[in-house]
Amino acid sequence: MTSLPKFFSLSAANMYKQCPRKWKHRYVDKIPDPPGEPALIGTFAHHVLEVLCEKDPEQRTREEAKKIASETWSETVNNQAFQDLALTEEQQREFRWKAWTAIDGLWELENPAEIDVLSTEKRVSATLAEVPFYGIVDRLDQSNEGTVVTDYKTGKPPKPAYRDKALDQIILYAAAIESETGELPAKGRLLYLGKDSLELEINISQELTSKSTNQFAGTWADLKRDCEHDSFDTDVGPLCGWCPYAGICESGQKEIKKRLGAGRMRLDAPALQLI
Ligand code: SF4
Repeated sequence: MTSLPKFFSLSAANMYKQCPRKWKHRYVDKIPDPPGEPALIGTFAHHVLEVLCEKDPEQRTREEAKKIASETWSETVNNQAFQDLALTEEQQREFRWKAWTAIDGLWELENPAEIDVLSTEKRVSATLAEVPFYGIVDRLDQSNEGTVVTDYKTGKPPKPAYRDKALDQIILYAAAIESETGELPAKGRLLYLGKDSLELEINISQELTSKSTNQFAGTWADLKRDCEHDSFDTDVGPLCGWCPYAGICESGQKEIKKRLGAGRMRLDAPALQLI
């Protein structure tokens, strides 16, 4: 029998739903899954915006963001995961440019000087429908209507059909905040930063939090069953091409080869280096 994790985040739940075996490798076997360049760009941009939004409103300017980016760049350069990318100088310039495009994208969606920021990088943990939920909220703001949960994204915005699903994260954060403070936030916002900037906003209601919490609890129940039976199925698909565990996964390797043969796998898929 495999022990259940002490905490369950939405990203862990999404990984489990995508492929239970992948979840097991990551969270039970604890096989490292080093962040790639897009994740490190996201971390850097999040950090700059965190520091910026902790400053007084009138200091939240593009110039200040540039200053913070330049002052904190050395932390990224000294990070082992960044060094492992072994980027050339030109590639490092591109990395910084992409990160700056994301940071600068915030002003396409709002003027941070006009936001009443309550907190940044707030850790929330709560028992939601008997599931030990854990997450980090990028920003909590105060608006006339109540508290607003804001989360930044530096990846591509989802296609319209997947936008409701993307908002699940913010709804669960709102449920956890209600559980901690007794007050349900009024709104949730996902800010997709970058050249395709997009804001997704939702009015939070008890109906929405109950629905998302119940779905989350359903995933937890499936995980609990797998842990009890010590059995984690593989769920093959196009994402095997991006799975860091493809090198130790027979089913994933078969799937990648099948897709390659049929011309349905990108030739630059990172997992091709592993098989
Ligand atoms: S390679 Fe595919 S099937 Fe194997 S663990 Fe990864 S996602 Fe799952």
